[in-house]
Amino acid sequence: MNNIAVIGSGTMGNGIAHVFAQYGFQVSLIDISEDALKKAVATIDKNLTRQVEKGAITAETKQKALASITTATSIKTGVANADLIVEAATENVDLKLKIFKDLDESAKPSAILATNTSSISITKIASVTNRPAKVIGMHFMNPVPVMKLVEVIRGYATSHETTDAVMTLSKRLEKVPVEVNDYPGFVANRILMPMINEAIYSLHEGVAGVEEIDTVMKLGMAHPMGPLQLADFIGLDVCLSILRVLHDGFGNPKYAPCPLLVNMVQAGHKGVKSGSGFYQYQSGSKELVVAERFKK
Ligand code: NAD
Repeated sequence: MNNIAVIGSGTMGNGIAHVFAQYGFQVSLIDISEDALKKAVATIDKNLTRQVEKGAITAETKQKALASITTATSIKTGVANADLIVEAATENVDLKLKIFKDLDESAKPSAILATNTSSISITKIASVTNRPAKVIGMHFMNPVPVMKLVEVIRGYATSHETTDAVMTLSKRLEKVPVEVNDYPGFVANRILMPMINEAIYSLHEGVAGVEEIDTVMKLGMAHPMGPLQLADFIGLDVCLSILRVLHDGFGNPKYAPCPLLVNMVQAGHKGVKSGSGFYQYQSGSKELVVAERFKK
């Protein structure tokens, strides 16, 4: 397995292309947006340069990695040679179902079709293809070049061969793959999102302020980042949509998203990406400043 295609060149897609290229794979990076592809290649270049400066990789590895990435705006041409395709396009069910139908038609019959979805059912995605045994979740964490975990999600019909191939491949990237089954939120988000939601409820109900909640979890539980800061980093819209998947999937009120989270997303306060969430963000500044609304 040597040829990889990555669909979507946003936050996750560029990181996934980066690690495959760094470990010697040929990578075809595909996006509908030329602009997104240009930005992705520039980001990969910048992040590889940082690794060279830190002594983590050689300048030669960087050059080889960059040279092994090609870009395309069409799935048909971009995936023709791929042994494995990792889809990392926008988190939207209809979009992913359409992409997987296209992939099934354009990819080699032997190719494995993986998705980096945070929450959409692998079984559902597999059901629109004629190769459900070769469809699997390959859930990388952000930032991909840094984070060791890959949550490998077996859909209802995913074969042992496909799972073994993806577990082995993840190890070739020096990642730690963990096999889980396909239920709402898988493992990572099933555990993380209720914690984030509970932190937001604690703020909403006036139990404590933003900094206090994050400090309790950082210093008391040894979390590197408090849950409210982490929610801002992930994107509050993303957190809301994952909580809705858990709520719908289990029908259990314990997963109901906090009304404060719903309001913040509706008001466009989505965290780091929108410049404001529980904290406010200014480009160039690393100082963590509580958003105006939550100041005491
Ligand atoms: P993003 O918005 O940064 O990037 C998505 C990219 O997909 C965009 O460049 C967009 O142009 C492209 N795209 C949209 N439609 C396309 C199509 N039809 N064909 C090809 N490209 C298309 O999103 P992201 O944060 O990188 O998330 C991508 C996936 O990874 C989602 O499924 C998300 O749930 C998952 N994920 C995200 C994170 C995270 O922290 N951001 C972590 C784990 C998993």
